[in-house]
Amino acid sequence: MRARSPAAASVWDRVSGRTRSVLAVGLRSLKPPLAPGYYEELEAVLVGADIGPVMAARLGAAVKARAPRTREEAADALVAGALAVMSKKPRDLIPPLPLGERVGEMGLNVILMYGINGAGKTTTIGKLAHRLKKVGRKPMIVAADTFRAAGIEQMSAWARRAGVDHFEGKSGADPASVVFDGINAARSRGSDVVLVDTAGRLQTQRNLLEELAKVGRVATKALDGGPYESLLVLDAVLGLTSLMQAREFNKAVPVTGLVLAKLDSSAKGGAVIAIEAELGVPVKLAGVGEGIDDLAPFEPAAFIRSLFES
Ligand code: GDP
Repeated sequence: MRARSPAAASVWDRVSGRTRSVLAVGLRSLKPPLAPGYYEELEAVLVGADIGPVMAARLGAAVKARAPRTREEAADALVAGALAVMSKKPRDLIPPLPLGERVGEMGLNVILMYGINGAGKTTTIGKLAHRLKKVGRKPMIVAADTFRAAGIEQMSAWARRAGVDHFEGKSGADPASVVFDGINAARSRGSDVVLVDTAGRLQTQRNLLEELAKVGRVATKALDGGPYESLLVLDAVLGLTSLMQAREFNKAVPVTGLVLAKLDSSAKGGAVIAIEAELGVPVKLAGVGEGIDDLAPFEPAAFIRSLFES
């Protein structure tokens, strides 16, 4: 098995503690793989870990294809099967924006952040701004959730906490115009990365998705057609419910990456596998606590191993 760095190991083993215990108890209670009824029981355990019936059947078939004879061989087959369905797309934020190191001259990077209210969007933006600042970037937060006066205030409080510049839309203003003005303000103030907080009322309200699509079009215009990142923040505590939300958002806006907030308090981390496999969109970041440093670049191999190998 590939060695993991101690730092990475501690993050993933910490965040998925509750998920792992659900899986560990279930998997340990299984009969050996050659016993009759093994695969039905395996799938039931996976469904119980919020992996979902479709993905549980797919993983069950992947294990069966390897014809394991011992519990250990079955566990290895499970890890390999889960890793095989994860997104193969790069998990860095759009180039040129590596999170881990300082980069030289570059244009303006824009990251639009989506997510329903309560998912953890404001917190994630604050943490990401802090992280970017630490690696030498000059982030600016644009508070464009003009439907929520309290949201603008919270966003500004996080900007102050992270010690980064921010640009506020007026309550009730057109979000797309706030984004346009915010991007231009970032240029004139010498910022090199813009984090945009967008509105997040329930996505089943069609207007919200239309509004967000418009925000995306305006960002493209403000960037002269240049690319931007759109990160969808999902509440990991909701498990597979997040998959339904992500499907809706993904139809309206081009989601380039996912952020799993609250992975530390979720017992439903197994849903990550189904979400990635169905959407084909990689999880790029994970929220692993409420503190400003509790944001980690997502590592699928370490995450999957910590899920199944306890
Ligand atoms: P928003 O409405 O999507 O902007 O959500 P907020 O950022 O305000 O977060 C909602 C709640 O979730 C707050 O109480 C946050 O402290 C909490 N939260 C956000 N991210 C995390 C996380 O990674 N771990 C934990 N444990 N709590 C989080």
